[in-house]
Amino acid sequence: MHKDLALIYSRCFDTYSYGIFHPMKVERYRLTYDLMQACGLTQHTKAEMVEAVPATREELLKFHRSDYLDILEHYSRDDNSCANFKYGLGDIENPVFGGLYEWISLMCGGTVTAVSEVVQHGRRAAFSMAGGWHHSFPARASGFCYLNDVVVALQPLLEQGKRIVYVDLDAHHGDGVQEAFYTTDQVLTISIHECGKDFYPYSGFVRESGEGRGYGYSVNIPLVPHSDDLILEQALQRIVLPLIKAYKPDLLITQMGADFMRTDPLTRLEGTTAFMEYAARCFMATGLPWVAVGGGGYDSINVARAWTMLWAAMLEVEVPYVLPPGFQTILRGLGVDQTLLHDPPHLANPDDFARAQKALDENVAFLERRIFPLYHIRPGGMA
Ligand SMILES: [Zn+2]
Repeated sequence: MHKDLALIYSRCFDTYSYGIFHPMKVERYRLTYDLMQACGLTQHTKAEMVEAVPATREELLKFHRSDYLDILEHYSRDDNSCANFKYGLGDIENPVFGGLYEWISLMCGGTVTAVSEVVQHGRRAAFSMAGGWHHSFPARASGFCYLNDVVVALQPLLEQGKRIVYVDLDAHHGDGVQEAFYTTDQVLTISIHECGKDFYPYSGFVRESGEGRGYGYSVNIPLVPHSDDLILEQALQRIVLPLIKAYKPDLLITQMGADFMRTDPLTRLEGTTAFMEYAARCFMATGLPWVAVGGGGYDSINVARAWTMLWAAMLEVEVPYVLPPGFQTILRGLGVDQTLLHDPPHLANPDDFARAQKALDENVAFLERRIFPLYHIRPGGMA
């Protein structure tokens, strides 16, 4: 029987380590899978588990430069620490160790597989949890990202003339993906993120709208620190959903970084699992072929909870409010005392909310003036 959904996974996702002091903890992939399994979501009648396979050099070369891939491969064979700052490799942010190339090729291949499952095999949607490396450039690693899985995976579709919307919910601006498509109208990129004024990667301002043929096809919604679920939901409703509807893409691909959550140690947004679930249900409701990829998230339990709720939304099922007992046992073994799967409702304090609402209203007004007319969308979001 053909199943509607594909969950892309590999037991090898958590076999590499950035180092014990690095904020990126790869065990989040295993924890996410364990929680999905504990909720009964890995054996669902609507979904198939698909093993990730590494992206080939030929696939990577459609976006990445050969000298960069050569040096990644070379460093990867060497167990000694290596560094080349021209390529962004070997600093604290983007460490290099033996086996790195195989590991990042596998993560990237997960997204190539997810796109192929939806586009070639006609699945309704797929989730590549180990994707979402949106800060990577053709010949430079940045922000813990070495290979830009989304840009690599979309290349065959672009060659076929397909049109794509990319939505990035990660707390950081999706700079690598935006730059890759900045001058084309074939991919509409939309990023909601914490404002880059004093925050990595220091880009993603509302006036970054694309260039040449790409003008109007890069959209940024920067949010001030302490923006909460109500602000995030408005950004989605007022800008993202009307643009998706008006652009009418062949494929929707969304980066679902979980670092917009208020307990994330690296960011200052105040979202909860409720926004992850809301966004996922909105994307599902578009009826478009949909690929979701992972992304940031530096509290591994947050990531597991948020992405389990995302997968449940794809399956169109509910998950319990409390974590299943088996998963609570896993957490206790890790010394974590967490019992809830859903976050309790959270609102920012009133002063922070007022500031966030004012900033959002200004950005929405700007985008309604500059971008919406290109799509024949009337202010208020009606196409
Ligand atoms: Zn991030």
